[in-house]
Amino acid sequence: MSRSSPPWQVGHEVILKKFHPCGGRRWTIYILGMDVGLQCQRCGQRIKLARRQFERAVARDTPPQY
Ligand SMILES: [Zn+2]
Repeated sequence: MSRSSPPWQVGHEVILKKFHPCGGRRWTIYILGMDVGLQCQRCGQRIKLARRQFERAVARDTPPQY
């Protein structure tokens, strides 16, 4: 079993560790399954990540900084 995986849901906002080329870090989840679909809140681009990749890419403990 996976330990303490946050209950993400479609429509949730996530912050990734890496910046998108547009400068954004905030994404909205639009698909949640084996693959996770994310839409960049800044430029609107949509990407898909494998669930594991996604879980690694999310900066869970990092509060947004501006
Ligand atoms: Zn972007």
